[in-house]
Order: sequence, then structure tokens, then C-alpha cells
Amino acid sequence: MDFELLEEQKEIKRAASEFAKGEFDKEVALELSKNHAFPMEIHKKACKLGFIGMHYPEAYGGQGYGILENSLVMEEFCRQDSSIGIALSVCNFSSEIILRFGSDEQKKKYLIPLTKGETISSGAFTEPDHGSDITQMFTTAILSDGEFVINGTKTFITNGTIAKFAIVLCQTDPNAKPPYRGQSTILVETGREGFEVSDVGEKMGIKMSPTTEMAFNNVRTPRENLIGELHRGFYNVLEFFDESRILVGAQGLGIAQGAFDRALDYTKKRTQFGKKLVDFQITQHKLADMATKIEVARLLVYKAGWNFDHKGIDPKLTSMAKMFAARVAVEVADEAIQLLGGYGYITEYEVERFYRDAKITEIYEGTKEIQKNTIASAIIGKLK
Ligand SMILES: Cc1cc2nc3c(=O)[nH]c(=O)nc-3n(C[C@H](O)[C@H](O)[C@H](O)COP(=O)(O)OP(=O)(O)OC[C@H]3O[C@@H](n4cnc5c(N)ncnc54)[C@H](O)[C@@H]3O)c2cc1C
Repeated sequence: MDFELLEEQKEIKRAASEFAKGEFDKEVALELSKNHAFPMEIHKKACKLGFIGMHYPEAYGGQGYGILENSLVMEEFCRQDSSIGIALSVCNFSSEIILRFGSDEQKKKYLIPLTKGETISSGAFTEPDHGSDITQMFTTAILSDGEFVINGTKTFITNGTIAKFAIVLCQTDPNAKPPYRGQSTILVETGREGFEVSDVGEKMGIKMSPTTEMAFNNVRTPRENLIGELHRGFYNVLEFFDESRILVGAQGLGIAQGAFDRALDYTKKRTQFGKKLVDFQITQHKLADMATKIEVARLLVYKAGWNFDHKGIDPKLTSMAKMFAARVAVEVADEAIQLLGGYGYITEYEVERFYRDAKITEIYEGTKEIQKNTIASAIIGKLK
């Protein structure tokens, strides 16, 4: 057993860290966050340097790395800045559905522009009435004259206002029993007639990442936009989550590490009662607890990534990594605010933004309760 990253992986992590330190300027981040603006320029530079889609094969614009290498990059990005890190981490959201289930032509057409920074993608699964439970969709896509005619509404969709396309989970057979056997994943270009997108409104954190509602009113897409097999969409999305949730774990890990770094730095500088904060034993114990949690989260996220790359899907391990790292992100960012006292509550000091950004990792791509269901069903098995 060897817990060391390979030299190449260490180099990727170092390169991501250097890029983030050089480009994720604190004042720029505060401004982008205030203006709810996606970090477009930084995104383009990250693409140019090969940080986006590095896990796609070279034929599709990537570098043939795995989810572990991708996680190392997103950890470092989120460590430097939680909001920019998350925005970049999800700029090609759901593209792995194309990578895994799309045709060669679809992969070339849609993945290469994502790696070049020419496109941003989105994945539309959640509906106003269906969030955790995606076994039935009210959004329908009915084949007519060689085209899908799509009707329905999706909500909370990341990147809706800036994406060129969305992978939409639709009910293609409304009579299927059970309903999830009649769902399909369909790529919809956001410029199509009958497609409308709007912002869902003010939210707690990740303000650089647009969260939107998508309405489909008789939107027609060619049959060739079907990704994977007809009526297999539900399974496509589940397999996608088994990969993408590892990346959410990496987001949580990076946010926790970034909040910890700031707290450690602050407690070494701040003096109260004639002592540096870091000289109080209670501060030392808090830092020790934070560091231990981060280390465990790192082990789980890296193991889940390594396992995915070498052995394939393991929903239990993915859910453990996502659930645990997300909790650690929230707890460590909370403690970081406490260690900074009143300054921790002030935006300029960053940790309050890390805290607000951390919370989403416990909600999107499956809440922590849903991760527990996955873990439990894997360890207990089907009950009679
Ligand atoms: C900022 C943001 C970005 C998002 N981005 C996307 C995106 O890009 N694409 C997309 O499709 N979706 C996206 N989502 C949606 C997100 O995935 C859902 O919000 C999430 O899956 C929960 O669904 P819900 O909000 O409907 O809550 P519900 O499913 O209604 O859950 C409410 C509560 O009940 C609990 N619960 C539900 N079912 C069970 C159960 N069986 N056992 C125990 N507890 C249960 C949940 O854990 C939760 O605590 C985003 C959400 C947000 C807030």
C-alpha cells in the first residue's frame, strides 16, 4: 500500500496551486462575488493551460488524466478561492454524460469546445417537484417527425444563463413502469426556440455560479441530440453522479483547507491578553481537530478518485467521500470564522464566504441524506 501521489500528480497539484495563487486575486474575487459574475477571464486562462476537461481523452481535447487528477486541481482552486474554485469546477458540468455515453461525433462536437473555453455546459435534472427523487420527470420529450418535442420546467440549474447547451433528463416514455425506465438524456442547445432561462434569485453562496430555472415550451431538438440509449437516461445520470460527486468532495476538501490556512495564519498574528491566539491551548486543539478532519476528508476523496480511475464505479465510496468532505468543509469554515472572531464575520476576511460556499456541497448533486441512503443500501443490502 502506498499513500503517496505520483510525481506527475504532485506536479499537477503544484501547477494548479501556482495558477490559482497567481490568478485568483482576492479583490477580483470580492468584486465578482458582489456582482454575481462568472470568472470568465480566469476560466479562459484555466482552459488554455489545460485545467478544464483534463480527464477527457486527448482525442476530445483532454489529457487522458483521471478523476483523481481533476480532483487535485479543483482542491487547489477551491483552497485559494471557494467561489472561483466552484465556478471553474462546474463550468463543464454534466459533460461526463457525453464522455461516457455519447457517440464519437458528439464527443468531438461538444467536449473539445469545453476544453478550449469556448463553451460552458449545464446539466438539468432537478424539477420544481423532483429534487432528490429523480425517478419520475414531469419534463417530457416526445418523438415526433424525427425530433424530440420537449415541455416542462427545470430548476436550480447551474450555468443556465451562460451555457451553450444543457443535458436535460426527460421522460421519453410517460407510460413506463417504473417511470425511471422511460427517461432519456437529451442535449438541448440553449438558443433553441421555446427555451427560456431565468435566474432563481439571491442565494446564500457560490455567487459567481449562476443558478437558474429553465422552461421548455415545445422545444424541438433533433433525435441525434439523444445522449446514449433511448430510455436509459436515469441510469446515465446515476453513473454520472458516481463520478461527479467525487469532485464535489474535492470542492469541500479545498474549501476546508483554504479556511484552515486563513485561520492558522490569523491566529499566529493576532494577540489577545498578551499572547498570540495560537499560544492558547484551546486554539491549538481547534486547529488540531480541523487538520485531522481535513486529513481524513483528503484520504477519502483521493481514495474515491483513485478507485474510480483504477477499478470503476463504487457508489458507496463516492458517497462517503462527498458526504464527509462536505461536512468537514462546513465545520472547518465555521470554526475558522470563530477563530477570527468579529473579523471572521466580515467579508474582507474571506472565511465567511468560504462558509457560505461550503454549504452547497452538502446539498447539490445529492444531499447528505441521499448519500447516507446510498451508503446504507450498499452496506446493508436490499431489505425484504
Ligand atoms: C446552488 C444550487 C445549484 C444546483 N445545481 C443543479 C444543477 O446544475 N442541476 C440540477 O439538476 N440540480 C441542481 N441543483 C439541485 C440540487 O441537486 C437539489 O436541490 C438537491 O438534489 C435536493 O433536491 P430538492 O432541493 O428538491 O430537495 P428535496 O429533495 O425536496 O429534499 C428536501 C430535504 O428532504 C431530504 N430528503 C429527500 N428525500 C429523502 C429521503 N429519501 N430520505 C431522507 N431524506 C430525504 C433531503 O435530504 C433534504 O434535506 C442545485 C441546487 C442548488 C441550491
